[in-house]
Amino acid sequence: MITLTVPPTFAGWRSAARKALQEGIPPGEILWEEAGGDAPLLDLFTLEPALPASIQSPVRVPPAFMELAKRVACHRAPTRWAILYRALWRITHGEPHLLDVFVDSDVHQLMGMDKAVRRDVHKMRAFVRFREVTHPEGVWSVAWFEPAHLIVELNASFFVDRFAGMRWSILTPDRCVHWDGESLGFSPGVDRSAAPGEDAVEDLWRTYYSHIFNPARVKIHAMQAEMPKHYWKNLPEAALIPDLLRAAPGRVAEMLSRSLIKSAPAESRETIISEVADWESLKESASTCQACPLYKNATQTVFGEGPRSARIVLLGEQPGDQEDIQGRPFVGPAGQLLDRALTEAGIDRKECYVTNSVKHFKWEPRGKRRIHEKPNKTEVSACKPWWKAELALVRPSVLICLGATAAQTVFDRDVRVLAERGTVVETVHAAKTLITVHPSSLLRISDPEQREHAYRRFVEDLTLVL
Ligand code: SF4
Repeated sequence: MITLTVPPTFAGWRSAARKALQEGIPPGEILWEEAGGDAPLLDLFTLEPALPASIQSPVRVPPAFMELAKRVACHRAPTRWAILYRALWRITHGEPHLLDVFVDSDVHQLMGMDKAVRRDVHKMRAFVRFREVTHPEGVWSVAWFEPAHLIVELNASFFVDRFAGMRWSILTPDRCVHWDGESLGFSPGVDRSAAPGEDAVEDLWRTYYSHIFNPARVKIHAMQAEMPKHYWKNLPEAALIPDLLRAAPGRVAEMLSRSLIKSAPAESRETIISEVADWESLKESASTCQACPLYKNATQTVFGEGPRSARIVLLGEQPGDQEDIQGRPFVGPAGQLLDRALTEAGIDRKECYVTNSVKHFKWEPRGKRRIHEKPNKTEVSACKPWWKAELALVRPSVLICLGATAAQTVFDRDVRVLAERGTVVETVHAAKTLITVHPSSLLRISDPEQREHAYRRFVEDLTLVL
């Protein structure tokens, strides 16, 4: 077994690998080690006389491999040198198209490292923040960054192109890069204490960020994937993020309740509402909706409920008396009948998302009772952005329209439920969209036999989406 101790750079590995290849040393006989800071560099091949050019065989390696190797060399995994050499050996020993075999273990590992390095390169470009310091030669911009991998040199030309007119340094624990406006230089890594602290520029940046922050567009998971917390400590604007996120739902609600939005046409509100990225914000926003007069006589907005990963969404007409009081959809008599029918159809309501086309209870007084009144087209249309936004978040594969109001708002046309019930079609909202009756219509049938018959047909309809 030969131990090769190489500088942890692409050039260092390439030089040693080229010689090992020329010597015909198989991957299994080499132990790759990285030269540390003060460790002596033991490149065994420098101790050997170079092979005469006449017996050196040319090593032909696809350019794609060398490009890949340059990036993989920037990964921190100490195993990268051995994997690179093994791949190089295989490519030059009968497997020239190895990189096309994605299921190969070596290729898989190399691709994974390449992806991690590329991602880190992107993060550095996105999250380096310069702070101005006064230097004897004038103003110098200095940034502190902690890359996950050894990417400073790989990324240097990007910053030269981007900030060619500035004089700057990027300090990292591994390596520092400097640009004086004319030439690029590198120096060893430094401790964070070498980086300057805050300056006035950061206050400006924070103010700017808090103004451009759009609470309606907050996608927390995507944001953290793009801006991992690891980088926050170097970003002046990051200190604002927790407070801005906490305030986001309230700010969305405030945005939506502004008179401009309230009086905007449905399409404009639909655009705004569709950009509310999480269910909690959507629900809170709907709780202050005044886009039609129905909010005036209702107790509260009755928003949908159920798992956000539900396969099935049930869309009804509007909340009833009990739903209005409890603030939950389908909890009154019609809801109980729906639960029973779902169970008989083999559908677990707990796994469904249940909501209504109209979120406020429309009613008229009759004595002490509040009697359901059908919402008109304007009201249904005003409320459409809410259920559409719910569906966009849940993305069900099945949408069951319960009754004419739901069917008409989904299909955007007049629907004769009794004529069209029981057919499953694909819509933009779900691969299987079913029209059936509203369970409250069953409760209005006074004849027990007819009611039982109608109930059976309702259950049959529900089974069509299984
Ligand atoms: S019914 Fe819908 S559109 Fe009308 S106020 Fe309530 S939530 Fe808004």
